[in-house]
Amino acid sequence: MPLKSLLINGFKSFADKTTLTFTQGITGIVGPNGSGKSNITEAIRWVMGEQSAKSLRGSHMPDVIFAGSAIRPPLNRAEVTLVFDNQDHELPVDRATVTITRRLFRDGASEFYLNQKACRLRDITDLFLDSGLGKASFSIISQGRVEEIFNSKPEERRTIIEEVAGVYKYKQQKKQAEAE
Ligand code: ATP
Ligand code: MG
Repeated sequence: MPLKSLLINGFKSFADKTTLTFTQGITGIVGPNGSGKSNITEAIRWVMGEQSAKSLRGSHMPDVIFAGSAIRPPLNRAEVTLVFDNQDHELPVDRATVTITRRLFRDGASEFYLNQKACRLRDITDLFLDSGLGKASFSIISQGRVEEIFNSKPEERRTIIEEVAGVYKYKQQKKQAEAE
């Protein structure tokens, strides 16, 4: 399930609409300190449903919206779209291309879209449960995370193994059903 493209508009340092296209193989992103490399991986985690502002290096979610610079006023909206090549149907959607979009306004209003259709956050997170690509995913490893996994408590490490093994999804569904 390769990534096809990422569109960033108003998210963190990306004040202008920016499109990144991923070709086959490995993509490396290089640039000077502070140029926005980590912001790109954060945009990916965000559109996939990240709910922790802290893990995006902010104190509340609207901190992800472009905050302005010496020459540009702040923006009122952040938007990220991620396009997957789903020809292998690894995502449980009957389409060869899957598009997800997240939009956030400064007043806190937020919108999610799956294939251009408005949806809930839950629809997005459900999509990635079991794909190994969830927001707490182990395909996205930030600086310091490897040590964190090594140093985690046994119960936390168990959660990691359960997600990798595909058991976690059922545990979440059971929890949800019990709460309803
Ligand atoms: P390093 O090589 O040091 O890891 P990097 O390329 O990963 O750097 P990032 O951390 O992605 O850089 O980008 C940091 C930059 O993004 C900072 O200049 C910061 O001011 C800017 N930035 C973060 N949030 C916002 C925001 N909401 N609005 C505008 N700029 C932002
Ligand atoms: Mg960085």
